[in-house]
Amino acid sequence: MAFELPNLSYAYDALEPHIDARTMEIHHGKHHAGYTSKLNTAVEGTDMDGKSIEVLLAEHSDSSAVRNNGGGYYNHSLFWSIMSPNGGGSPTGDLAAAIDTDLGGWDTFKQTFANAAATRFGSGWAWVCVKEGKLEICSSANQDNPLMPGVGCGGTPILGLDVWEHAYYLNYQNRRPDYIAAFFSVIDWDAVAQRYAAARA
Ligand code: MN
Repeated sequence: MAFELPNLSYAYDALEPHIDARTMEIHHGKHHAGYTSKLNTAVEGTDMDGKSIEVLLAEHSDSSAVRNNGGGYYNHSLFWSIMSPNGGGSPTGDLAAAIDTDLGGWDTFKQTFANAAATRFGSGWAWVCVKEGKLEICSSANQDNPLMPGVGCGGTPILGLDVWEHAYYLNYQNRRPDYIAAFFSVIDWDAVAQRYAAARA
């Protein structure tokens, strides 16, 4: 059973002006499609065939093809799902309370997350994870994911920001901090809250 490129629940131009349509089109239709296709090639006909993406990341990241393309498949699937044209604002309920308790409150959270994204050298991701029931912020290189062992970043990711140049260069060029700031205008906090609840269940 092959992995499939997930459809977006919004149009390529829906996140403008924060993320431009051309970037979304190439990012989803070329980059994410490429990771998905190469992941399928890597697992087809092996003992990894039929395993969930979570199991592949947790148990088979010693294979560079699974690490890079499985990570790319999972990371982008999460990324699209936690953004929305109706996003922005701030979380409420249990997630807001956990940000207060575990991450020092909303302002500190935003600063710490933006710093993790800005200081990740080269290509990678910034994450909010649930680890042993608590929120943590971290970053990883390339398409590494917190579900992989030994990436210096652990737990179940509930929010991720792609800081590869392909994610922002057409619109923001070298201004990664501007892209990070814009991301906060499209975060779908309801979707993040659902992932938070699921990760703690
Ligand atoms: Mn990407």
